[in-house]
Amino acid sequence: MKVYFLGTGTSQGIPVIGSHHSVCMSDDPKDKRLRVAVWIHWDDYSFVIDCGPDFRQQMLASKCVKLDGILFTHEHADHTAGLDDIRPYNFRQGELPIFAHERVLKNLNRRFDYIFETENRYPGAPSVKEFEVKNNEPFAVGDKIAVPINVWHGNLQVFGYRIDDFAYLTDVKTIDEAEIEKLKGVKVLVVNALREEPHATHFNLQEALDFIGRIKPERSYLTHISHLLGFHEEVAKKLPKNVFLAYDNLEITI
Ligand SMILES: [Zn+2]
Repeated sequence: MKVYFLGTGTSQGIPVIGSHHSVCMSDDPKDKRLRVAVWIHWDDYSFVIDCGPDFRQQMLASKCVKLDGILFTHEHADHTAGLDDIRPYNFRQGELPIFAHERVLKNLNRRFDYIFETENRYPGAPSVKEFEVKNNEPFAVGDKIAVPINVWHGNLQVFGYRIDDFAYLTDVKTIDEAEIEKLKGVKVLVVNALREEPHATHFNLQEALDFIGRIKPERSYLTHISHLLGFHEEVAKKLPKNVFLAYDNLEITI
């Protein structure tokens, strides 16, 4: 299984529009971060987690020509705003399955009413097939099983996903003990680390490292990164062994 980091930035992306912060001005490609998402693929199967506003650009960069579904973590715009751009997949493959919490599906129905319209549909509109994700109910993704992991983004419920020995958790601030159990034995963990300063709804760097220390995966990758965390090269040097700062277009093999 391969995991391709489509985007590793926080909600505004890096550079932030109009920012003169040194990280936003950096020439290092690893300091350019699109909105957070991953592409997971194995054999003939291909899924993405989240579909933010940079989706089109990300799918062009990753050369992902076929998609079997989108797993949504939550409804915030940096994770959903690209849904209109699934059309090239629709035209080639037909309806695209989307997997999300009932609340998120309802939210998408409101935000993208024309996608879910059943009467007088515009012929070129995106088309999706909705699958509701419920906690404690693993579901099939191709010939593998995705296990939803219920986490908290402040007061907002968010799903992370485990597929085999890989787990992807973003926009986490807290996680219940019962959910931590579901991460036992994971070999590769991706988790959000916004910046060094604490934040109300995201792990900061220390919280992410403490969490990794509890799960003890073989390798961990940090994502959903703010320019305030610092330059990729400098932050990467400070991290413990087997903890890596993810960057856009990094592909790892699980
Ligand atoms: Zn986010």
